[in-house]
Amino acid sequence: MKTLNHLINGAATAGSSGRTGPVFNPATGEQSADVALANNADVDAAVAAAQAALPGWSAMPPLRRARTMFRLNELILANEQELAEMITSEHGKTIDDAKGDILRGREVVEFACGIPHLLRGDFTEDVGTGVDAYTIRQSVGVCAGITPFNFPAMIPLWMFPLSIACGNTFILKPSERAPSCPTRLVELALEAGVPEGVVNLVNGDKEAVDAILTHDGIDAVSFVGSTPVAQYIYATAAEHGKRVQALGGAKNHMVVMPDADMDQAADALISAGYGSAGQRCMAVSVAVAVGDDTADALVEKLTPKIQELKIGPGNGEGIEMGPVVSKQAHERILDLIDQGEKEGATVVVDGRNFKMQGYENGYFMGGTLFDHVSEDMAIYKQEVFGPVLSLVRSNDYESAVDLVNRNEYGNGTAIFTKDGDAARDFAERVQIGMVGINVPIPVPVAYHSFGGWKRSLFGDMHMHGMEGVRFYTRQKAITSRWPKSGVREGHSLNMPTMQ
Ligand code: NAD
Repeated sequence: MKTLNHLINGAATAGSSGRTGPVFNPATGEQSADVALANNADVDAAVAAAQAALPGWSAMPPLRRARTMFRLNELILANEQELAEMITSEHGKTIDDAKGDILRGREVVEFACGIPHLLRGDFTEDVGTGVDAYTIRQSVGVCAGITPFNFPAMIPLWMFPLSIACGNTFILKPSERAPSCPTRLVELALEAGVPEGVVNLVNGDKEAVDAILTHDGIDAVSFVGSTPVAQYIYATAAEHGKRVQALGGAKNHMVVMPDADMDQAADALISAGYGSAGQRCMAVSVAVAVGDDTADALVEKLTPKIQELKIGPGNGEGIEMGPVVSKQAHERILDLIDQGEKEGATVVVDGRNFKMQGYENGYFMGGTLFDHVSEDMAIYKQEVFGPVLSLVRSNDYESAVDLVNRNEYGNGTAIFTKDGDAARDFAERVQIGMVGINVPIPVPVAYHSFGGWKRSLFGDMHMHGMEGVRFYTRQKAITSRWPKSGVREGHSLNMPTMQ
């Protein structure tokens, strides 16, 4: 069985921990690989490599760093099929969905190709007589990124390309459940000409993460994952003096107004609720129907679509939805559905008994639809992260907005309506970081920034776009004067002013 190793200073290494973890194929339930699990000494080695590479890399003109980004982009494209197959075999999503995961990541690499422009500073001539002021952005140092299982290409690519384009060196710690694609991406960065030590990869679990969070040689940490871990990462890394951005979980609501086109709204709910088997941080897990007529119309349109979803192994022909990622996730989602039924929600479509012929040990389930879900139910309160959509009936628009705003998460939301006033009011008042108007999954493009509010993000800076550039750089303000020789103004103990 293959073993996935670390990539430190340009070379594959099993590290010194002697520990490995199993990687499973969710479609078959079979173990497909072992992954090395790093210890403190392995993280130390990665940090030493990143520190050694930092002076040369950060001093390189941004234009030259950009050229490696152009090459990386081309190499990812050339290897797209292989990368997509890796994603499907460890995550379970379909090949086409995996290609979307790769493309959304590549768009951040394309954004990083513009780094010479993005790092341009400001200059003001004559802030005082003969005095000029300018600001520049410099790299932060050694950065680390800790990523979740659900976007094995996009989320690592949110982080390391932009970070190294800014002149930092990097250590990636991907999810131990889907490590093949991130490992290959770092290999491709090396092939693209990124020097040894500039980007390193340590595979691992909590032990590797804790070594990163407490390491004196690491200056900044980017994290994407579940909320309890994001909160822990933020607190621990900040306590150890690091700059941190930690993106957490979500409970995304889509409000459907009575005037919406119900066919469009139902299609959007199917795509956003069941795509990737509901395992996207921007998945819609709650449909908020304004008025009973809206709710009844949605239930009528959604039911046959959910029953007809083409479910199977992600590499199968015409498959729309694959399995969920792990046995544990499968059991947890089924338990939550049981609980929703016990707590009084109506099970309109029940995905619990779905069996995939020929794949009896895979982690498959059908799509589930609940109606009459209320705020006190576990199925509403918890992030399900599976193919389960909950319909909440709301009397009016105001109570729908209040419901969204009361929720502890603030990642994404959407409104479906034909009413411009309602859409504008919603965009303005909703306490959520990313808002869609007739767009169910409003993931910002690479040159805008991605991030939630409330318990969906700990820290200040969002991912990629200009917020990403700011996170991976430090601003320096320089005031300069070149006095004519021989001219003296004498000294003054007063606060300097530009008189
Ligand atoms: P996770 O929190 O279990 O794991 C994320 C990373 O943290 C992994 O690399 C893992 O090894 C590490 N980790 C796990 N437990 C840890 C612990 N106790 N201490 C230290 N490190 C630990 O998340 P996941 O299951 O891989 O991913 C799904 C979650 O990620 C969902 O909650 C989803 O909403 C969230 N997510 C959020 C976004 C976003 O942009 N906000 C994007 C994708 C996924």
